[in-house]
Amino acid sequence: MKAKKSLGQNFLINDLVIKEISDSIKVSNHDLIIEIGPGRGALTKELMKKNCLLFCYEIDTDLKVYLAQLNSSNLHIIYKDILSSNIIDDIKNYQYENIYIVGNLPYYITTPIIKHLINLDLPIKEMVFMVQEEVANRFASLYGTSDYGSITLYLKYYYDVSKLFKVSKECFNPIPKVESAVIKFTKRINPLNVNKDIYFKLIDDAFKMKRKTLKNNLKNYDFNKVKKVLDKYHLPENVRAEELSEDVFMDIANNLKG
Ligand code: SAM
Repeated sequence: MKAKKSLGQNFLINDLVIKEISDSIKVSNHDLIIEIGPGRGALTKELMKKNCLLFCYEIDTDLKVYLAQLNSSNLHIIYKDILSSNIIDDIKNYQYENIYIVGNLPYYITTPIIKHLINLDLPIKEMVFMVQEEVANRFASLYGTSDYGSITLYLKYYYDVSKLFKVSKECFNPIPKVESAVIKFTKRINPLNVNKDIYFKLIDDAFKMKRKTLKNNLKNYDFNKVKKVLDKYHLPENVRAEELSEDVFMDIANNLKG
């Protein structure tokens, strides 16, 4: 059966990579794993060895011929679009301690999937995803680098994000056009002390035009309040958003509120 490009189907064929992804989450058999896009079941088979509850969401019913061969009372394959699935409803009758989410993601909807999972407000402990390398660099970037942006800060609000390892194109069939990497999201234990709405609007506005200064991007703000914080951190007025750490953004958001 031919892989469907439109569904981001690049199947993993390297056993070492599959094992490394699976080993990067340390679950107990009281936990729940959710796999996004099981495909032909390459990663699913490895995850099944963990002997815990496993829910998989696959949009392509043509893949039933492969996935129906996997048998375990712990395994639940749901043929639905992850973006319109009601995971909370699907898992409500099951007992589990922590939730781990894993997947070699369909790259065309990487960010919508991650935002969807965050918005569901599930008790997720960790998420491990294969994504396009360029995207991994953006998600896990540090301030002061060109990869750093509003998505970095948005994700960091909820999770510590780290790039685990690169994966070469030859580990997939068909071979994708882009390089890949595996990233890990670990739920932050202490939430940031900031008003979420003000903070998210601020980071969105601050990075609106990448080449402009912070001041130019925040034209509609009371810049005296912003400048007060910049002065505190000895930052010049013509600073760019990518040069500001999470702490500085948090401080600005708190100062805007008052
Ligand atoms: N896990 C398999 C592997 O590693 O070989 C397949 C990974 S493949 C990159 C992505 C998978 O996500 C495909 O099986 C594709 O059909 C599925 N997929 C694409 N869009 C989806 C969606 N909206 N909801 C659920 N699954 C989706």
